[in-house]
Amino acid sequence: MKTLENALQEGRKFLKEKQIADSDIDAWYLLSFLFKMDRARYLMHSSMPISQVEYHEYMELVKKRGNHIPLQHITGEQEFMGLNFKVSKDVLIPRQDTEILVQEVLKTAEGKNVLDMCTGSGCIIISLDKLGNIKSGVGVDISEAALKIANENNTRLETKVQFLQSNLFEQVRGKYDIIVSNPPYIPTSDIETLMDEVKEHEPPIALDGKEDGLYFYRCILSEGTEYMNPGGFIFFEIGWDQGMAVSRLLKEKGFQDIRIIKDLAGLDRVVTGRYVNQEEPFT
Ligand code: GLN
Repeated sequence: MKTLENALQEGRKFLKEKQIADSDIDAWYLLSFLFKMDRARYLMHSSMPISQVEYHEYMELVKKRGNHIPLQHITGEQEFMGLNFKVSKDVLIPRQDTEILVQEVLKTAEGKNVLDMCTGSGCIIISLDKLGNIKSGVGVDISEAALKIANENNTRLETKVQFLQSNLFEQVRGKYDIIVSNPPYIPTSDIETLMDEVKEHEPPIALDGKEDGLYFYRCILSEGTEYMNPGGFIFFEIGWDQGMAVSRLLKEKGFQDIRIIKDLAGLDRVVTGRYVNQEEPFT
């Protein structure tokens, strides 16, 4: 008869052999997910016997993870900003780094109309709606499949974001006080260097920022100002080495108060600036 502890040990050993990063943690998460058990309950019941069927089910999950399927695709969820989001292969799995972006927007978001470009799972705009007391939130994505997940998250988290299928601003109407975006920003030639979990299982459309990784920043800046109220803010998540380049793009567009914000690892992660309408009326 196997116990919970036996299963966990075998899960850890299997994932270690498969050279899965964070093998011990992932073996635990899968056990916790299958048996709906937190750490305290596990510690009290680790010698509890489990059935053959349960053991088999657990090892099936472990084998999936051993094949580099992301943990979140197996459990179907990811925590972000303390909220539980549904995820699938159709959306980028919310990253902890992106919480830096949301936290920065939260400082000015109260009472504002916010547009989230390339919304994916909706994690950014839903978090802002849930935590930021914003006036209204719109999430835009080109992918119908992604928006299905975003809408499910909207229902699950009881938020009132409006999701819109659009190729960048094509279908967008109106003006916003804040535009926030975590667009695809990995240069095409870097994609093959990413972990298998990312390059084999996450949507390339959510990662690939074309030749120099900056394609979507240029598009969003060149069209986006038409949809911004003067005095409004833009917030971009960026890759660690894109701070200077994206700041320069904002400067060229006449943005002011441009700042780069670092993530918890001390790397550049967010660029923000204020849009000031340059056109002075004729006198
Ligand atoms: N930060 C993500 C990664 O490293 C990429 C996110 C993006 O392209 N927007 O996988």
